[in-house]
Amino acid sequence: MRALVYRGPKDVAVEDVPDARIERPTDALVKVTATNICGSDLHMYEGRTDVEQGKVLGHENMGQVIEVGSAVDKVKVGDWVVLPFNIGCGFCKNCESGHTGFCLTANPGSAGAAYGYADMGPYAGGQAELLRVPWADWNALVLPEDAEDKQLDYVMLSDILPTGWHGTELAAVRPGDSVVVYGAGPVGLMAALSAQVKGADQVFVVDHQPDRLALAAKLGATPVDDSEGDGVDQVLEATRGEGADKGVEAVGYQAHDAAGEETPGLTINSLIAAVRPTGRIGVVGVFVPEDPNASTDLAKKGQFAFDFGTFFFKGQAMGTGQANVKQYNRALRNLIHAGKVHPGQIVSQELNLDQAVEGYKNFDDRLDGWTKVVLHP
Ligand SMILES: [Zn+2]
Ligand SMILES: [Zn+2]
Repeated sequence: MRALVYRGPKDVAVEDVPDARIERPTDALVKVTATNICGSDLHMYEGRTDVEQGKVLGHENMGQVIEVGSAVDKVKVGDWVVLPFNIGCGFCKNCESGHTGFCLTANPGSAGAAYGYADMGPYAGGQAELLRVPWADWNALVLPEDAEDKQLDYVMLSDILPTGWHGTELAAVRPGDSVVVYGAGPVGLMAALSAQVKGADQVFVVDHQPDRLALAAKLGATPVDDSEGDGVDQVLEATRGEGADKGVEAVGYQAHDAAGEETPGLTINSLIAAVRPTGRIGVVGVFVPEDPNASTDLAKKGQFAFDFGTFFFKGQAMGTGQANVKQYNRALRNLIHAGKVHPGQIVSQELNLDQAVEGYKNFDDRLDGWTKVVLHP
């Protein structure tokens, strides 16, 4: 089969690799019809992880089931399915308690597994013609009859919509809250959308990329351009000096200031300043325990100066970690089916698999208008 393979920093290629296949009776085999390039793929692309050469990338996948193992009961050949980026077993302590992003079975010795991702187990990604889905009855969410027509919406259930939603859950967003989201990338935009579904009063989205801020405005949020003055000051001014009730971090450890300098703690410390006393902050941008190619000794260990004094003094709380996609994807699927949310509206490019290399390059270069890339293998 054809697949997008990691070969080294800024070096990916579409190659022939052995076909994905059923390996265990609980597996399903999916013909991938839509698979996204994610901002978190760029950490690998840029050589900022220890992902192995030859890995097939792609963790945001949907498609049609073409074969099931002998122990698969629910999922049938022909079903359209979307796969949570995290792979869970369904029976470990964490899966049982709903923390499917931290499965103890799928990636032994660690907590959490995913398709095509550094340190997340041996699983190949879905930027390929075929995808092996382990524990298929547990992991595959079956889609309704409009699956093919609404692929651009449903494929967002694999990661960015539940991840944005998770940010607002960690921040405990309630009706009438004001919310500040750092980052107008796909996850930040989905957090802004989620906050509005939950009845937020006003949602600020801070970034310095004009095309992304325009999308935030299109989704009904208030764009805050931090290249035109400090983002924190702008949020404080718009909230009578109080700060927003809740905050969501959707950037991660490769945060850049408006001048382009990488500053890992920038968004966290800005949120502590921009959220009101006793407010909650949800962190869903990716942070890593080790970053060997970082520019400072502290950052190499995944550390940065955290403004803990202010955080404590303000009595704030913070929730962190990757989204437990299965907690939310069924309900969010229903909202898409009912036409109440349209996450696919942020898609900027649809490419075939052979154009994936160009897709990575342009997305990584933050070319104007490249906000979310969907591949159709
Ligand atoms: Zn992703
Ligand atoms: Zn598990």
